Amino acid sequence: MVGAIHGWWCNARTYPTVCHYCGQRVFYFSCDCGCKVFFDELGPPWPQHMCLPYLEATYGHTQAVHLFEAHRLRLGEEISIEPEYTQTLLEHGRNPSRPHRLVRQDPTEGSRVQEIGYLREIGPSQDAYKAFDLLRSPISRALLGSLADRRYIPITLHTGDLSREDGGSYTGVIDAESFSASKARRGDLVRFSLIAWGIPGRSLVWLCQRLARVGLR
Ligand SMILES: [Zn+2]
Ligand SMILES: [Zn+2]
Repeated sequence: MVGAIHGWWCNARTYPTVCHYCGQRVFYFSCDCGCKVFFDELGPPWPQHMCLPYLEATYGHTQAVHLFEAHRLRLGEEISIEPEYTQTLLEHGRNPSRPHRLVRQDPTEGSRVQEIGYLREIGPSQDAYKAFDLLRSPISRALLGSLADRRYIPITLHTGDLSREDGGSYTGVIDAESFSASKARRGDLVRFSLIAWGIPGRSLVWLCQRLARVGLR
Protein backbone atom coordinates (compact mmCIF):
# COMPACT_ATOMS: atom_id res chain seq x y z
CA MET A 1 0.00 0.00 0.00
CA VAL A 2 1.46 3.34 -0.99
CA GLY A 3 1.38 5.93 1.80
CA ALA A 4 1.89 3.64 4.78
CA ILE A 5 5.25 2.81 6.33
CA HIS A 6 5.85 -0.90 6.53
CA GLY A 7 7.98 -2.83 8.97
CA TRP A 8 7.81 -5.04 12.04
CA TRP A 9 4.43 -3.69 13.12
CA CYS A 10 2.67 -4.96 9.99
CA ASN A 11 4.47 -8.28 10.00
CA ALA A 12 6.72 -7.38 7.08
CA ARG A 13 8.66 -10.28 5.57
CA THR A 14 11.40 -10.28 2.99
CA TYR A 15 12.59 -13.37 1.14
CA PRO A 16 15.50 -13.69 -1.28
CA THR A 17 14.38 -15.63 -4.34
CA VAL A 18 14.82 -15.86 -8.11
CA CYS A 19 12.47 -14.36 -10.72
CA HIS A 20 10.84 -17.20 -12.71
CA TYR A 21 10.83 -15.12 -15.88
CA CYS A 22 14.32 -13.65 -16.11
CA GLY A 23 16.30 -15.67 -13.57
CA GLN A 24 17.50 -12.58 -11.72
CA ARG A 25 17.94 -12.66 -7.94
CA VAL A 26 15.12 -10.62 -6.38
CA PHE A 27 13.55 -10.04 -2.97
CA TYR A 28 9.92 -10.77 -2.30
CA PHE A 29 8.36 -8.42 0.23
CA SER A 30 4.98 -9.02 1.83
CA CYS A 31 3.14 -7.68 4.87
CA ASP A 32 -0.25 -7.71 6.54
CA CYS A 33 -1.24 -4.48 4.74
CA GLY A 34 -1.37 -6.51 1.56
CA CYS A 35 2.01 -5.61 0.04
CA LYS A 36 3.24 -8.24 -2.42
CA VAL A 37 6.22 -6.76 -4.18
CA PHE A 38 9.44 -7.90 -5.81
CA PHE A 39 12.48 -5.66 -5.27
CA ASP A 40 15.72 -5.77 -7.24
CA GLU A 41 17.73 -4.56 -4.26
CA LEU A 42 17.30 -4.20 -0.54
CA GLY A 43 17.14 -0.68 0.86
CA PRO A 44 16.21 2.79 -0.40
CA PRO A 45 15.03 3.60 -3.01
CA TRP A 46 13.66 0.04 -3.00
CA PRO A 47 13.69 -0.50 -6.78
CA GLN A 48 10.77 -2.71 -7.76
CA HIS A 49 11.55 -5.56 -10.09
CA MET A 50 10.32 -4.60 -13.52
CA CYS A 51 10.71 -7.65 -15.66
CA LEU A 52 10.67 -7.32 -19.44
CA PRO A 53 10.40 -11.10 -20.09
CA TYR A 54 7.39 -11.21 -17.73
CA LEU A 55 5.72 -8.23 -19.42
CA GLU A 56 6.34 -9.73 -22.85
CA ALA A 57 4.84 -13.04 -21.79
CA THR A 58 1.79 -11.24 -20.41
CA TYR A 59 1.17 -8.32 -22.78
CA GLY A 60 3.17 -9.00 -25.94
CA HIS A 61 6.32 -7.24 -27.04
CA THR A 62 5.10 -3.74 -28.01
CA GLN A 63 2.95 -3.16 -24.95
CA ALA A 64 5.68 -4.65 -22.75
CA VAL A 65 8.31 -2.21 -23.93
CA HIS A 66 5.86 0.66 -23.38
CA LEU A 67 5.10 -0.44 -19.81
CA PHE A 68 8.75 -1.02 -19.08
CA GLU A 69 9.69 2.52 -20.16
CA ALA A 70 6.72 4.08 -18.37
CA HIS A 71 7.74 2.37 -15.14
CA ARG A 72 11.31 3.59 -15.40
CA LEU A 73 10.06 7.15 -15.65
CA ARG A 74 7.96 6.97 -12.52
CA LEU A 75 10.52 5.39 -10.21
CA GLY A 76 10.42 7.41 -7.03
CA GLU A 77 6.85 6.88 -5.83
CA GLU A 78 7.96 3.89 -3.89
CA ILE A 79 6.81 1.88 -0.95
CA SER A 80 8.09 3.23 2.40
CA ILE A 81 9.80 0.74 4.65
CA GLU A 82 10.92 1.41 8.23
CA PRO A 83 14.64 2.29 8.51
CA GLU A 84 15.17 -0.07 11.46
CA TYR A 85 13.58 -2.97 9.62
CA THR A 86 15.65 -2.09 6.54
CA GLN A 87 18.84 -2.10 8.62
CA THR A 88 18.15 -5.63 9.84
CA LEU A 89 17.56 -6.81 6.28
CA LEU A 90 20.78 -5.26 5.07
CA GLU A 91 22.77 -6.89 7.87
CA HIS A 92 21.20 -10.29 7.28
CA GLY A 93 21.33 -9.87 3.51
CA ARG A 94 25.11 -9.65 3.55
CA ASN A 95 25.13 -13.24 4.62
CA PRO A 96 22.00 -14.76 3.08
CA SER A 97 23.17 -18.30 3.74
CA ARG A 98 23.66 -17.61 7.44
CA PRO A 99 22.06 -20.44 9.35
CA HIS A 100 18.57 -19.75 10.49
CA ARG A 101 17.80 -21.52 13.68
CA LEU A 102 15.34 -23.99 12.21
CA VAL A 103 12.85 -25.45 14.62
CA ARG A 104 11.16 -28.66 13.61
CA GLN A 105 7.38 -28.24 13.69
CA ASP A 106 5.43 -31.40 14.36
CA PRO A 107 1.71 -31.60 13.67
CA THR A 108 -0.59 -31.56 16.68
CA GLU A 109 -4.30 -32.32 16.78
CA GLY A 110 -6.24 -29.69 14.87
CA SER A 111 -3.19 -27.67 13.82
CA ARG A 112 -3.24 -25.74 10.59
CA VAL A 113 -0.52 -23.61 9.03
CA GLN A 114 -0.59 -21.00 6.28
CA GLU A 115 2.84 -19.67 5.49
CA ILE A 116 5.43 -18.63 2.96
CA GLY A 117 8.62 -20.64 2.85
CA TYR A 118 11.16 -22.49 0.75
CA LEU A 119 10.60 -25.94 -0.68
CA ARG A 120 13.74 -27.70 0.52
CA GLU A 121 13.20 -31.42 -0.07
CA ILE A 122 11.11 -33.46 -2.50
CA GLY A 123 10.90 -37.22 -2.06
CA PRO A 124 9.81 -40.07 -4.34
CA SER A 125 6.09 -40.62 -4.82
CA GLN A 126 4.44 -43.15 -2.51
CA ASP A 127 1.00 -44.62 -1.94
CA ALA A 128 -1.42 -43.40 0.73
CA TYR A 129 -0.59 -46.20 3.20
CA LYS A 130 3.08 -45.33 3.19
CA ALA A 131 2.40 -41.59 3.19
CA PHE A 132 0.21 -41.80 6.27
CA ASP A 133 2.12 -44.64 7.94
CA LEU A 134 -0.73 -47.15 7.86
CA LEU A 135 -0.85 -50.89 7.38
CA ARG A 136 -2.59 -51.97 4.21
CA SER A 137 -5.96 -53.21 5.47
CA PRO A 138 -9.65 -52.72 4.79
CA ILE A 139 -9.86 -50.66 7.99
CA SER A 140 -7.06 -48.33 6.89
CA ARG A 141 -8.71 -48.00 3.53
CA ALA A 142 -11.99 -47.02 5.11
CA LEU A 143 -10.24 -44.49 7.36
CA LEU A 144 -8.35 -42.97 4.45
CA GLY A 145 -11.56 -42.54 2.49
CA SER A 146 -10.99 -40.47 -0.64
CA LEU A 147 -7.27 -40.11 0.18
CA ALA A 148 -6.67 -43.84 -0.37
CA ASP A 149 -6.51 -43.85 -4.17
CA ARG A 150 -3.98 -41.07 -4.59
CA ARG A 151 -0.23 -40.99 -4.62
CA TYR A 152 1.77 -38.63 -2.46
CA ILE A 153 5.07 -36.77 -2.57
CA PRO A 154 6.98 -36.21 0.67
CA ILE A 155 8.12 -32.59 1.01
CA THR A 156 10.01 -30.45 3.50
CA LEU A 157 9.30 -26.74 3.77
CA HIS A 158 11.39 -24.18 5.63
CA THR A 159 9.95 -20.88 6.85
CA GLY A 160 11.87 -17.86 8.09
CA ASP A 161 12.76 -14.74 6.13
CA LEU A 162 15.66 -12.28 6.06
CA SER A 163 14.25 -10.17 8.88
CA ARG A 164 14.13 -12.96 11.44
CA GLU A 165 16.60 -15.29 13.10
CA ASP A 166 14.32 -18.29 13.46
CA GLY A 167 12.43 -20.44 11.06
CA GLY A 168 10.35 -23.59 11.11
CA SER A 169 10.85 -26.88 9.32
CA TYR A 170 7.76 -28.80 8.23
CA THR A 171 7.91 -32.28 6.76
CA GLY A 172 4.74 -33.72 5.28
CA VAL A 173 3.08 -35.00 2.14
CA ILE A 174 1.16 -33.53 -0.78
CA ASP A 175 -0.92 -35.43 -3.29
CA ALA A 176 1.14 -36.04 -6.40
CA GLU A 177 -1.34 -34.41 -8.79
CA SER A 178 -1.49 -31.14 -6.88
CA PHE A 179 2.27 -31.18 -6.61
CA SER A 180 2.84 -31.54 -10.32
CA ALA A 181 0.18 -28.88 -11.04
CA SER A 182 2.08 -26.45 -8.81
CA LYS A 183 5.21 -26.81 -10.99
CA ALA A 184 7.18 -26.22 -7.79
CA ARG A 185 10.85 -27.16 -7.76
CA ARG A 186 13.43 -27.57 -5.07
CA GLY A 187 14.53 -24.20 -3.69
CA ASP A 188 11.37 -22.35 -4.81
CA LEU A 189 9.73 -19.78 -2.58
CA VAL A 190 6.17 -21.04 -2.09
CA ARG A 191 2.96 -20.15 -0.35
CA PHE A 192 1.56 -23.21 1.38
CA SER A 193 -1.09 -24.48 3.73
CA LEU A 194 -0.86 -27.58 5.87
CA ILE A 195 -3.26 -29.44 8.10
CA ALA A 196 -2.48 -32.09 10.67
CA TRP A 197 -4.03 -35.27 9.34
CA GLY A 198 -4.20 -38.59 11.11
CA ILE A 199 -6.40 -41.34 12.34
CA PRO A 200 -7.02 -42.17 15.98
CA GLY A 201 -4.13 -44.03 17.56
CA ARG A 202 -1.58 -43.21 14.85
CA SER A 203 0.79 -40.33 14.57
CA LEU A 204 -0.31 -37.20 12.77
CA VAL A 205 1.10 -36.21 9.37
CA TRP A 206 1.28 -32.76 7.80
CA LEU A 207 -0.93 -32.89 4.73
CA CYS A 208 -0.20 -30.04 2.33
CA GLN A 209 -3.46 -28.75 0.87
CA ARG A 210 -2.10 -25.83 -1.08
CA LEU A 211 1.27 -25.18 -2.64
CA ALA A 212 1.90 -22.30 -5.05
CA ARG A 213 5.12 -20.78 -6.29
CA VAL A 214 5.58 -17.15 -5.35
CA GLY A 215 6.29 -15.20 -8.53
CA LEU A 216 5.13 -12.42 -10.82
CA ARG A 217 1.68 -13.00 -12.23
ZN1 LIG B 1 2.61 -3.18 5.75
ZN1 LIG C 1 12.25 -11.00 -13.80
